[in-house]
Amino acid sequence: NCKNGDDVIRAVKDYNVSFVQFWFVDILGNLKSFQVTPDELEAAFEEGMGFDGSSILGFTRIEESDMIAFPDASSFQICSWRPMDRPVARMFCDIRTPDGNPYEGDPRYVLRRLVDKAAQKGYTYYVGPELEFFLFADSTCPRPLDSGGYFDAPPLDLGNEVRRDIIFALQKMGIDVEYSHHEVAPSQHEIDLRYNEALKMADIAMTYKVVVKEIARKHGVYATFMPKPIFGENGSGMHVHQSLFKNGKNAFFDANDPHHLSAEARHYIAGLLTHASEITCITNQWVNSYKRLVPGYEAPVYIAWAQRNRSSLIRVPMYKPGKEAATRIELRNPDPACNPYLAFAAMLGAGLEGIEKGYEVPRAVEENIFAMEAEDLSAKGIDSLPGSLYEAAVALRDSALMKEVLGEHTHQNLVGNKLIEWDAYRTHVSEFELKRYLPVL
Ligand code: GLN
Ligand code: MG
Ligand code: MG
Ligand code: MG
Repeated sequence: NCKNGDDVIRAVKDYNVSFVQFWFVDILGNLKSFQVTPDELEAAFEEGMGFDGSSILGFTRIEESDMIAFPDASSFQICSWRPMDRPVARMFCDIRTPDGNPYEGDPRYVLRRLVDKAAQKGYTYYVGPELEFFLFADSTCPRPLDSGGYFDAPPLDLGNEVRRDIIFALQKMGIDVEYSHHEVAPSQHEIDLRYNEALKMADIAMTYKVVVKEIARKHGVYATFMPKPIFGENGSGMHVHQSLFKNGKNAFFDANDPHHLSAEARHYIAGLLTHASEITCITNQWVNSYKRLVPGYEAPVYIAWAQRNRSSLIRVPMYKPGKEAATRIELRNPDPACNPYLAFAAMLGAGLEGIEKGYEVPRAVEENIFAMEAEDLSAKGIDSLPGSLYEAAVALRDSALMKEVLGEHTHQNLVGNKLIEWDAYRTHVSEFELKRYLPVL
């Protein structure tokens, strides 16, 4: 647990570290990395390490391309999936421009700004994401390796060994795991992380994705966070449990409320519901994300909240009712292929807006929404999430709140990128069309 550059330099000596990887992400959450030798570390902590930002998606224009990465000493960890003699370590970086200011296109900065905003109001934002994934033989075909289902134990669960090694690798990097299990779909798995402060958790989520993929590769299989790899089966979600703490107390908890939810929790839920369509392009950023958000697969479609109902967008888990620390809300639309920095920033931004403006939460919908008829839904005033990446991108484009949360630069770049992605999909002639139309038209 390093506190500053000196601690890191000492640890690098003590553990005979050969290289230190400097990590950061582009706007889509793709991990970027370059390797630094131990001799360079002292200078890196003082002056940062320069790189060409114009080649990084969503970063900058070619005429102002010099960027500087400043390593965050507190994120120093030895990469547990790499060989242990002469180990490799990694640190997350904050990106600055040559004039020394934080770079507005750096997703870590976007989240940092929101977390700071919450801190000014006295809040610490905690998140606990559940990142689901599939294991396949390789990346060319989504053929399941087992026929296990929810909570199935071996021998049906063939991913057991892989999951166990992933958990060990995560723990070696100081990441707390709560539990893991086979998920609903064949070959689908989940490993749940202990909740943490949002910025730390975004770093952890990035690390989790690398560790899952690397350990799977060691076992000769391929791990994917693609939201809906198999038609007709559950997709992979990243439900996000969230709460705000104030003065060391859970601000979402109220012992006197029948649901144990405070007024702040209700306003926060209302903020998420009100701005749900605007943040969906961030939490569900691919064409394929919208194949998951359909009725019948435990993924949300409708903008509603409930105490138990798993068909709703927001659920209030009741595992330990009345227990202060465990009181939280669960947002269920995000998928694990999102950029966790931007996703957490967007959720916090929407929730804080609800608190600031005192939004009123609508009635909880405890019935199974998937079983409701269209007129029933509209009578109850229940709207749907965007049905496609296009609808989501337009809602993001028109969102004044998300423009403020992401900053103009990232907002504009993300919307632009997503509309191009949609166009590539829209103009593509798919197997669906050839199979369905060619023989009959
Ligand atoms: N896989 C489901 C989803 O897409 C969630 C299933 C579960 O965690 N019970 O969100
Ligand atoms: Mg779970
Ligand atoms: Mg799950
Ligand atoms: Mg869940």
